[in-house]
Amino acid sequence: MIKTRFAPSPTGLLHVGNIRTALHNWMLAKQSGGQFLLRIDDTDAQRSKEEYVDAIRVDLAWLGLVPDGEERQSDRLAIYDAAFDALKAAGRVYPAYETAQELDLKRKIQLGRGKPPIYDRAALEMTEAEQAAKQAEGIEPHWRFKLDHDEMITWDDGVRGPQKFDPVTLSDPVIRRADGSWLYMLPSAVDDMDMGITHVLRGEDHVSNTAVQIQMFTALHAAQFTAAQNAAKPHPNFAHEALLVGKEGKLSKRLGSLGMDAFRDAGLEPMALVSLLARLGTSQPVEAHDDVATLLESFDLGTFGRAPAKFDEADLERLNTAIVHQLDYDVVADRLPEGMGADAWHAIRPNLEKIGDAAEWWRLVTGPIDAPEFSDEDRAYLGHAAEALAWGDDPWRMLTGALKESTGRKGKALFLPLRQALTGQDHGPDMGELLPLIGEDAVRARLASAAA
Ligand code: GLU
Repeated sequence: MIKTRFAPSPTGLLHVGNIRTALHNWMLAKQSGGQFLLRIDDTDAQRSKEEYVDAIRVDLAWLGLVPDGEERQSDRLAIYDAAFDALKAAGRVYPAYETAQELDLKRKIQLGRGKPPIYDRAALEMTEAEQAAKQAEGIEPHWRFKLDHDEMITWDDGVRGPQKFDPVTLSDPVIRRADGSWLYMLPSAVDDMDMGITHVLRGEDHVSNTAVQIQMFTALHAAQFTAAQNAAKPHPNFAHEALLVGKEGKLSKRLGSLGMDAFRDAGLEPMALVSLLARLGTSQPVEAHDDVATLLESFDLGTFGRAPAKFDEADLERLNTAIVHQLDYDVVADRLPEGMGADAWHAIRPNLEKIGDAAEWWRLVTGPIDAPEFSDEDRAYLGHAAEALAWGDDPWRMLTGALKESTGRKGKALFLPLRQALTGQDHGPDMGELLPLIGEDAVRARLASAAA
């Protein structure tokens, strides 16, 4: 069974890029009846906020991405301690005492010499006496994971194909700060292992993290770290999707910083976002779907492209309009103005970009409306219309048929004054559908008042 996870750090609101990752992980799991886990990466106690955890839950629920379980890294610190101890006993973590400034200087010197800024492992050379001296000064070490330099790191990436990393080109990552707090790298690997995650799907900014984490999985297995439930496999499958960018390059500050509440407030349908993000950057067509089933069925990592996916708000608006035009009354009923029934929804729906706009059109039915000033000729015409009005099965057709015959008017001259007199607008929903909604008395009154 496929098991995926979405692992946001609750240090801010989710933006479209995060949501896209969440959606793809949900789809990958749900496509085959698997499980989708929400993992809150809140080891950074200072920057993590409960309000962001709540916002993450609200956003996922809004999009219909219901997790099968929720885990929090802050509840699992003892497990990371145990993993750390196992790696330490196996000689795979080591203390380091450099300050941030010292490390920065080292990097600058390396770059100045035209060398890649890889950590030089100076800490490994420290004698016990030197370490003791640091401790005596009250300096606590931070901890690095010792990469195994002897073997190439390889994996078959679900999006990028075969990947190969020479560990010599990577720095031994710092996994734990001097105050004992955790950096992202080890807890994530421990959790993926312990929670039996079968597929890790994330952005390509994590590719080199994956190289490091593969060595962590291997080391944890070798150290027989017992929290591992997924011992059958050395590590999950990995897939890294190309990043999401804005129309003109990087995801703009504005969009990049927009939380899902901004999309909700704009009156957009969650399925518009789902329709767009499900297939953006894949070789499959981006189309409006008011139901996730088709998207789920066709979801295929093999169709994901390597080029950055371009997010354009105009696409979202277009999809939203198309989705609104597909929605059945039952689905939207509780979001419509009081009294607006199925017939009215049907009449008004083709004119909407957002469901929220329905109220405006509905007001044209319930009145009062704001009709324009008419010419003498049109007033006479509308007076004539008020007299000619007969109520029946299709009053609009009967009325315009009769007027055409009696006045010789046709096209715009026939229809527009009527539409204006009855709705106050130059365009809008089908008049044939609107008239029964407005009702005989109001139609007669509006014509009469326009003629007066
Ligand atoms: N908390 C990490 C992030 O937000 C998770 C990365 C991952 O998927 O492993 O980038």
